[in-house]
Amino acid sequence: MHYIIENIARIRERMKQASLSAGRNPEDVRLLLATKTVSAQNIKIALEAGEYIIGENKAQEIKSKYDDLMDVPHQKHFIGHLQTNKIKELLRYDVTCIQSVDRYDLADKLQSRLKLEQKHMDVFIQVNTSNEESKFGVAPERAIELTKQVSEFANIHIKGLMTIGLFSAEEKKVRVCFKLLKDLQQQIAALNLPGVDMNELSMGMSQDLEFAIDEGSTMVRVGTAIFGKRLYPDSYYWNEEK
Ligand SMILES: *Cc1c(COP(=O)(O)O)cnc(C)c1O
Repeated sequence: MHYIIENIARIRERMKQASLSAGRNPEDVRLLLATKTVSAQNIKIALEAGEYIIGENKAQEIKSKYDDLMDVPHQKHFIGHLQTNKIKELLRYDVTCIQSVDRYDLADKLQSRLKLEQKHMDVFIQVNTSNEESKFGVAPERAIELTKQVSEFANIHIKGLMTIGLFSAEEKKVRVCFKLLKDLQQQIAALNLPGVDMNELSMGMSQDLEFAIDEGSTMVRVGTAIFGKRLYPDSYYWNEEK
């Protein structure tokens, strides 16, 4: 069996066990394949094995894989830092959800473009729960305000929140990030903002998906544990304006 298919089976089992020990229904946690740097050929192996959601970090990569993935059913999410001049590309290549909306300016430009093209977009608000300067996301204390502002845009539909937890071997510190996101979700849901769904919590990756599921994740984003180590360090994707 292909290593990617074996790895997916392992991840699915981890997700199931984590859901069960948290007293949750395993079907309530979805898997997003984090496919940055992964070839279209390898993504295809995963999709053909029954996976459906992929997440990319760069518009350029979405574009370069677009033709090769066209004939395999899947849904594309954007999970990277988004510059406003790349919005057009995301729309052109059929991204259905942008998980990394973290500032008003970005949402404003997205709304203008969506209106022009008479399209709609699902988004998550990305929150910087670890307070690391190197990571994108709105500061937790500003997340509610940003959600309110973005909810005013007619063509943008907020579906939940996303975060990258702290990279740490200390379980407690990692969990603090996920608890914070859950807490914000509940606070925002209680506001009953028109047009805002707070059903999704995108959190948990290769290293920490068990904690995230235990804290309420509805979508884990897994790359390394399925496709293997990446050539570039994550800082290449997270810290720099590229
Ligand atoms: C790369 C990436 C992931 C997956 O990380 P792994 O540690 O490889 O599982 C999840 N979320 C985002 C935003 C990413 O860029």
